[in-house]
Amino acid sequence: MKVVDKVRSAAEGDGRTVFSFEFFPPKTEEGVENLFERMDRMVAHNPSFCDITWGAGGSTADVTLDIANRMQNMACVETMMHLTCTNMPVEKINHALNTIKANGIQNVLALRGDPPHGQDKFVQVAGGFACALDLVQHIRAKYGDYFGITVAGYPEAHPDMIQGDEGALLEAYNSDLAYLKRKVDAGADLVITQLFYDTDTFLKFVDDCRQIGITCPIVPGIMPINNYKGFLRMTGFCKTKIPPEITAALDPIKDNEEAVRAYGIHLGTEMCKKILDHGIKTLHLYTLNMEKSALAILMVNLGLIEESKISRSLPWRRPTNIFRSKEDVRPIFWANRPKSYISRTVGWDQYPHGRWGDSKNPSYGALTDYQFMRPRARGKKLHEEWATPLKSVDDVNERFMKFCQGKLRSSPWSELDGLQPETKIIDEQLSQVNLRGFLTINSQPAINGEKSDSPAVGWGGPGGYVYQKAYLEFFCSKDKLIAITEKCKALPSITYVAVSKEGECISNCTLNAVNAVTWGVFPGKEIIQPTVVDPASFMIWKDEAFEIWTRGWACLFPEDDPSREVLTQVQKSYFLVSLVDNDYVHGDLFAAFKDL
Ligand code: FAD
Repeated sequence: MKVVDKVRSAAEGDGRTVFSFEFFPPKTEEGVENLFERMDRMVAHNPSFCDITWGAGGSTADVTLDIANRMQNMACVETMMHLTCTNMPVEKINHALNTIKANGIQNVLALRGDPPHGQDKFVQVAGGFACALDLVQHIRAKYGDYFGITVAGYPEAHPDMIQGDEGALLEAYNSDLAYLKRKVDAGADLVITQLFYDTDTFLKFVDDCRQIGITCPIVPGIMPINNYKGFLRMTGFCKTKIPPEITAALDPIKDNEEAVRAYGIHLGTEMCKKILDHGIKTLHLYTLNMEKSALAILMVNLGLIEESKISRSLPWRRPTNIFRSKEDVRPIFWANRPKSYISRTVGWDQYPHGRWGDSKNPSYGALTDYQFMRPRARGKKLHEEWATPLKSVDDVNERFMKFCQGKLRSSPWSELDGLQPETKIIDEQLSQVNLRGFLTINSQPAINGEKSDSPAVGWGGPGGYVYQKAYLEFFCSKDKLIAITEKCKALPSITYVAVSKEGECISNCTLNAVNAVTWGVFPGKEIIQPTVVDPASFMIWKDEAFEIWTRGWACLFPEDDPSREVLTQVQKSYFLVSLVDNDYVHGDLFAAFKDL
């Protein structure tokens, strides 16, 4: 979706304030993975979009393209990619735009860019563009209406127009404004401003823009001060005016980083309050890849977000990719591995009836290394928590049990950090079951009409009710499987499918029947059922689930470590079981495990 439509619908709808976060590409692979962990936490607060910068002189082109793709499709946030003309002949510009278009990204921030390092003046590269206006015109001419185009605005005029300490001359300021209007007239639909610390200057700039007929939303770029030296460097580079009261406040605390950060939060809050009071309901935060100050301003001080009210529109995060906008049903098996699910279904450009395609013939992408690629940051955690020596299956059981007790934060079968909040409802029963050799990797408790804004199980916004059938997915030995299937004969509400690595299948239900396990009832809407147990998809998932024994866990041990053999034996001989208690009102799924 275009960012401008989000901004407009918030302003015209309930007058809600919307906010967004800017990030830049980190220098190392590990930095990128850390950024995504941080972004995941920030995206949970529902920013209207996030943007990723284009390194000076095109230095980060590939990384920026890759990060933009992952933001839109894995972090599932509406993404805006910056694109500059520096060192970019038109073929490279088109390559970048074609790439993000293919990845379902609809938003671009079109910029001229600064001169490459070591040069004073921007020089147009052969076959490239001279300014952002050229780039906007090119995007509209070649891609029509597909992209939402944002451009940069300068409340104090572009730094090139500023000579000395007095700021830009009126003539230069006006020429800059007139040029901004040309960018908008050429097809830009949103303006984000350069950072500023004098809010009156920003408000005057908005008025001046309106006077000359710029009608599109103008979003203030707010950069919380995080440290004194960085603040001086940035304001020096951008020739930003620093009001004397800010200098006076910072001077006595400049060597105390904590105090500077606290002041930065206070100042950012006051600036945002003043802007909001003037009826401008969009805030853009330059995060510098840090979360604390941005969240403190929005959460603690402005009350725009609440930790306890992280709302989910569905039980899983839908990628914002426009090709997946109709997707609204998923098999439950990938609940803890959403990224793997997305990457395995990335080629699906159709979700007929909002479903994941023909369930009898699911065209899941092949298992590639991708799903097993561990971000280094997580890899470290997995190593610490799961690479402890394993002498027997008892040690294996113990790892699973500890994860269910919340004593481990990572699991080879999960891409998430720790347990989902709803799992805590049944964590006691889960640890008991694991201790007895039923090694759980996915579950949900039964829910019979809980309010849809409940922090633990709610989704879909307030005003509705949510329902769930109890679900459990686990590995176990064949003996234990036989024992539990015997028990299930006396528990007719339980249906199960079990399969070994080699495909031996044992079940008590029809293998082509799809079973809805999560649904919600909302005012004025059809019933929404976002999660199902689909045996056909289960057979696809089981390959991935079994592979993780070796490629996700055993590989954490040295080649000759006997722990590897323990895990390989489990992988070879165990079954993966998917079990549903269809009686979500009176059922007790854990009764099936009693005395086993
Ligand atoms: P333009 O809009 O082309 O304008 C540059 C200057 O030239 C202005 O003063 C304008 O008035 C003048 N000008 C140009 N053409 C004309 C004309 N025909 N007539 C009159 N005047 C003209 N840099 C990066 O390298 N990567 C980023 O990701 C990045 N993100 C940014 C995000 C924001 C929100 C902002 C405000 C800046 C960002 N920058 C980024 C910095 C930006 O690239 C520089 O400020 C650059 O010097 C100008 O880019 P621009 O798109 O504003 O240029």
